[in-house]
Order: sequence, then C-alpha cells, then structure tokens
Amino acid sequence: MKQAFFRLVTFIVLSTFAVACSHDDDVAPTTTATRDENLAMGNPSGATANPANFSNYLLTKAQYTLSYNRDQGKPNWVSWHLSSAWLGSTPRQDNFGTDNTLPTGWYRVSSSSYSGSGFDRGHNCPSADRTNSVEDNSATFLMSNMMPQAPASNQQTWAGLENYCRTLVGAGNELYIICGSYGKGGSGSNGSASTIDDGRVTVPAYCWKVVVVLPVGTDDSRRVTATTRVIAINTPNTNSINSSWENYRTTVDAIEKATGYDLLSEVSTSIQSAVESKVDSGPTN
Ligand code: MN
Ligand code: MN
Repeated sequence: MKQAFFRLVTFIVLSTFAVACSHDDDVAPTTTATRDENLAMGNPSGATANPANFSNYLLTKAQYTLSYNRDQGKPNWVSWHLSSAWLGSTPRQDNFGTDNTLPTGWYRVSSSSYSGSGFDRGHNCPSADRTNSVEDNSATFLMSNMMPQAPASNQQTWAGLENYCRTLVGAGNELYIICGSYGKGGSGSNGSASTIDDGRVTVPAYCWKVVVVLPVGTDDSRRVTATTRVIAINTPNTNSINSSWENYRTTVDAIEKATGYDLLSEVSTSIQSAVESKVDSGPTN
C-alpha cells in the first residue's frame, strides 16, 4: 500500500514535469530567427508557373520568389523574407549570369545585356540580403532578379533603404520585402531610353518597394496588425532622383493602384485597409 502510494506520487511528479517541458518547447522558438516563406505575404499578381503565362510567370527559388515578364526581360516583382537567419559573412560574388531555369525558348538576358546602356543591373533582392552561403548570394546575381535602374537610384536612394532594412533586422525584426518596377521609359547616365538590349529589356518608369516590419516571431502573416510598420516607396527611374529614400514614401494603396496588384493579400482585408492607406513616418536610419 505504501509502495503503491509512492509510485502514484512519483508518477504525478514526473508527468507534471513532462507537461511543463513540452509547454516550454512550444513557446521557446519565438525569439529565434528562421528562414521563412518568401511569398508569405501573398502573390501580388496571381503569377503561375505556367510558361503560357509569359507576362506573369511565377519563378520560385530558395532565396526569393518572383513574377517574370518574358517580353520585358525583367521581373514584375520580387518577394523575399529577411531575417538574421539569411545573413552571414559570404562576400559579394558579383557573378552576374543568365537564369537557365526560365522556360525553354525564352530570351535569356545575359550579364552583358545592360552594357553601355547607362543603366545599372539593379538587384531587386539585394546581394547583401543573402550572405549566408555562396549559393544564396550567387542566386541574387541571376539576371532574372535585375531591372535596368538609373545609377543614382540604385547606388544611392535604393541602397539607403536596403541598408536601413538590414538595420531593422539587427534591431530584432524580420521583414517581408516586395519590390518591382512598372511603366516604360527612364533616364540613366546616357540619357533617356524606353528599352535596352535591342528592345528585349524594358526600362521601367518607376521602381517601388514595400517593407513589412515584424519583431522576430512565428505565424507572420497573422501577426500583422493595424499598427504594424509598413514602409512603401515609389521612385522615378531617373538619374536626377533625390538620394534620400524617405522623400519617396507613399501608401501601399497608391502602388496597388499604379500596378493593378493586390499586395499583402495574405493579411486580412481589414488589416490591409489600415496598413495600406498610411504613409510611413518612422525613423529612416
Ligand atoms: Mn489596398
Ligand atoms: Mn493589398
């Protein structure tokens, strides 16, 4: 009898301990940054991985997801997740190259397609956002991730926001970044152009970016609230652009109107209404 009682007490103590441990396992990972789904905030244009959909072709890579436009020789938009789990010490590979995963028969923009055009090979997903391996960094140099961008826009205005995004990651956040370009005709270091590479690559008139800022955690699209910081910019593709990205802040709604896309479509419509109609006024560095 005494022994049975002792066994019962032991059983209760041990099972209480086991329950406490499994509960800890459930809550522990919220402070650990992971690599999450690049398209978690939604597919802005309903892109599909069907070659017949040549102007809105979904291309999914481990490092980013994009909608490619065959006849423009550039992406419509690129979407990626950024957290400290994507960042390391891999140096910039600078190995610009053709994307051989595009459907058979499609024109493949090459590393020299922009040569002498007066436009930079402007990364959508930046090299410095994928530095955890040579493979990850090299993926950002595929020409399917490039847009012809005025040098001042690429090297100053956009570089400034890209750096600020990584500052936000260093402060304990994870980000979802969606950017793209639309329209036709920009002005680079050799003056105006509507296309380059013998008409095979469209020079966009505007380049835009949307950044969703969340403290590191899980279940990200459901954690967006009406007060989540969302930064949106829309920049003219001209070399006379102001170097400060904050001068180009706008609403997500304005970008949706200009492009016809639905951004952040994985977020509930009531939260979208709140975050998409505001112009960010937060810190800029
Ligand atoms: Mn909207
Ligand atoms: Mn939306």
